[in-house]
Amino acid sequence: MSANTLRIAALAGDGIGPEVMREALKVLRAATQAHALRLEATEAPVGWAGIDAAGKALPDATLELCRRSDAILFGSVGLPDRDPTLPKEERPERAALLRIRKEFGLFANLRPVQLPRALAHGCPLKPERQGDGIDILVVRELTGGLYFGQPKRTEDIVLPDGTKAQRATDTLVYTTPEIERIAHVAFQSARLRRRKVTSIDKANVLENGVLWRDTVTRVGRGYADVALEHMFVDNAAMQFLLRPTQFDVVLCENMFGDILSDEAAALGGSLGMLPSASLGATAEGRTFGFYEPAGGTAPDIAGKDLANPIAQVLSAALMLRHSFGRDDVARAIEQGVARAIDAGLRTGDIFHPGDPGARRVGTREMGDAIAAAVG
Ligand code: NAD
Repeated sequence: MSANTLRIAALAGDGIGPEVMREALKVLRAATQAHALRLEATEAPVGWAGIDAAGKALPDATLELCRRSDAILFGSVGLPDRDPTLPKEERPERAALLRIRKEFGLFANLRPVQLPRALAHGCPLKPERQGDGIDILVVRELTGGLYFGQPKRTEDIVLPDGTKAQRATDTLVYTTPEIERIAHVAFQSARLRRRKVTSIDKANVLENGVLWRDTVTRVGRGYADVALEHMFVDNAAMQFLLRPTQFDVVLCENMFGDILSDEAAALGGSLGMLPSASLGATAEGRTFGFYEPAGGTAPDIAGKDLANPIAQVLSAALMLRHSFGRDDVARAIEQGVARAIDAGLRTGDIFHPGDPGARRVGTREMGDAIAAAVG
């Protein structure tokens, strides 16, 4: 990886993917030019676009391109109404997304949720609970825990009273290295933010929670400049609604993170604003990352210049921060988004008729405004 060249695979996918990717690349070009970086973005089909082009949701050439690249900027895949006869394993959500996750060992999912003051009306919480705006980063472990437990089966059993029943067993397994590596991601991310980590567990009930808490505490000793607190998951679910402004980085195991990141996303108002990063193993000091909007292909608005490109644009900012170590350029993009919002530009999903000075715009106009603000 050359320090000044960003070699990325741009996989737009289906539905609104191509529209929002076009705007994200426009913004990336403006931002990289302004910071004397070279952008080498190669586009390739994935999802139904991959099936149409090469008969597979993740064509071999697309996977090869990903392997040659330093990071993947991804749109989204899947069209629920297309060909219901296609088996699950060949459908884009599995054949492309899960395959990429496995191939690149993506173990950390980062979901920042920000609610700018100007969009406070989009938040389901009362204004007094929103403080000066919500800004939470959920860091979720992706490869362990209940979702990957063994064994996982149902069987016929006989209960003590003689009745027949079925039983399902899922095991929750974590090893210390798995907890350590995700904890490092959380603490390092906190250093780029407000330097606080809230680690979520259920240490009052689960042995796994005790190991999680002990391990995170030990890793935290190496980050004396970051404050660490522990919180039980049930309390965290409540605190997200009561006082979300207390959180900076929220560190979770797989299932707690799945649930809490969706709860946090609801606070952000629109899926169209929420980016995400999935980080993989590091080699030679580099983090391989996969960056995509939190939402899906939004077939209901695809091809109509209605989609909000901000989630895709902010995903590109996360890529600059985590894969290329360019927090400065990432911030320039985030400020460009803030300027477009402050100027009153709103796509349909964040438009509120009572909002003074707000003007409804399309996907392209929003992208143009952000690119102009960063260039
Ligand atoms: P969705 O996220 O595509 O849409 C849910 C709602 O949010 C829709 O009303 C949509 O219009 C709106 N929305 C989403 N992104 C938006 C944006 N950028 N701007 C404005 N509005 C936006 O979820 P869905 O309808 O349940 O799923 C549609 C397809 O997307 C399915 O095939 C699903 O499997 C797939 N999907 C893919 C991914 C992925 O690729 N990572 C993630 C989620 C869903």
